[in-house]
Amino acid sequence: MKSVEHSGQENNLLDNQFDAVVAPSFDKPLSVAHKIAADFLADLAIRPPGRAVTPGLLHAALGGPIPETGIAAEDAVSEWFTKADPGIFASAGPRFFGFVTGGSTPAALAGDWLASAIDQNAGLWLSSPAAAETELAVLDWLKQLFRIPNEFAGSITTGATMANLAGLAAARQWASARLGFDAARDGLGGRPPITVISTTEIHASARKALGTLGLGRNQVIEAPAPNGSADMTAFAATLAQIPGPVIIVGNAGEVNTGAFDPIDEMARLRDRHPGGAWLHVDGAFGLFASISPRFQHLTAEVERADSIAADAHKWLNVPYDAGFVFVRDREPLRAAFAARAAYLTPGPDAPWDPHSHAPEMSRRFRALSIWCALRADGRSGYQDLVERSIDHAANFARWVEREPGLELLAPAPLNIVCFRVFPSGSTATDEDRLNREVVAAIQAGGQAFVTGTVWKGQCAIRAAFDNWMTTATDVEILQAAVTDAVDQISR
Ligand SMILES: *Cc1c(COP(=O)(O)O)cnc(C)c1O
Repeated sequence: MKSVEHSGQENNLLDNQFDAVVAPSFDKPLSVAHKIAADFLADLAIRPPGRAVTPGLLHAALGGPIPETGIAAEDAVSEWFTKADPGIFASAGPRFFGFVTGGSTPAALAGDWLASAIDQNAGLWLSSPAAAETELAVLDWLKQLFRIPNEFAGSITTGATMANLAGLAAARQWASARLGFDAARDGLGGRPPITVISTTEIHASARKALGTLGLGRNQVIEAPAPNGSADMTAFAATLAQIPGPVIIVGNAGEVNTGAFDPIDEMARLRDRHPGGAWLHVDGAFGLFASISPRFQHLTAEVERADSIAADAHKWLNVPYDAGFVFVRDREPLRAAFAARAAYLTPGPDAPWDPHSHAPEMSRRFRALSIWCALRADGRSGYQDLVERSIDHAANFARWVEREPGLELLAPAPLNIVCFRVFPSGSTATDEDRLNREVVAAIQAGGQAFVTGTVWKGQCAIRAAFDNWMTTATDVEILQAAVTDAVDQISR
């Protein structure tokens, strides 16, 4: 990390030292990183999506006393890779069906690399006009992609958790104004409570956001959602009991089953609520249904929501970490996050500053990766990806239904299949244990990766399809992995 010495002449710095000193000092470590990455990506489709790793195994290799003296940058990079390799999963590859996990398209990955190389601070227009304007352009493109009206303000976030947080912060701001105070300015202490209603299937990240915002993880009023989707009769009856302003959290894409709350009906209830209501939609992956004419009905009228959260690192297939939020009324979003400081205030005619609509001040240039991804694949590319993914899920769900000893636990309207192993003559406890063992066996087998869950009280297995590389052959390998694991456990 030697500094570049000034020659005293500016031109010399550019002419001589940049060529002679600066460029080579970046060149070597970047070439080494490129070589490691290229080899990794060349094998991505055949690398095991998961492997058995003992907790603590990598810790000793990676940690210990802080190095007293340094080594060459390229050596640091390759040393890390060698030591960490046993713990690297091919989760960006085509057979990682766990959680809801996207990969990275080539354009998205290249854009992400470039974002690190040019290292812009995307918080302020003044620190990077390119980053601020790219973020605005990307938000416009995303609104067009998801058919969200142009009037919505937006922000690029680190993921759907922060997108939920930003949307719910705007909601909290709106509700506090109705109750006669300003939540961001005054805090919540001693104020009337702000009520949140959702269903039993509200995502853990929305709870986390509500906890962070002082609205309480466990204060959510939960309506029943028998198949993952809100029972709207019960929902309407519960909502009617809430006198004041209320925040409704709707799920567009429930994480275990891909089920959708009827957002259009929730919007109608919002309009009629006497105390006023704000409709926030968690569409982390489900919002992507609106890209396809075949599946648009699932998110019908999502544009009537007040705020919408989604992920980019899932179905948009950009690298971690990226998400985005849209809020119809810019003012509560700005009021929640705008910070004043003399050194940050560029003047009355200043252009838009991303940080005034986001939790962070300094922030990574995440919009670049998304810009490259959307520019390279276009709307049609993403429509194709969404439809292919849902077709894979539907084919897998049909296979589950046909297969003796397997059972679909819920309809699979989108890209997630929730199922379980169900041998005849077993007891409920046996079944739960069996399903957990099958998940572990599939994960350790290294052919395909799925994750377990508990759905309506039963241990279950879920597979999510949203990687651009996944083919029909990968789905067949997943089926074989399930069959093999069941055989292995039953033996
Ligand atoms: C993944 C997910 C989230 C959280 O997103 P992160 O990107 O992990 O922050 C929120 N809601 C739903 C429905 C999700 O699937």
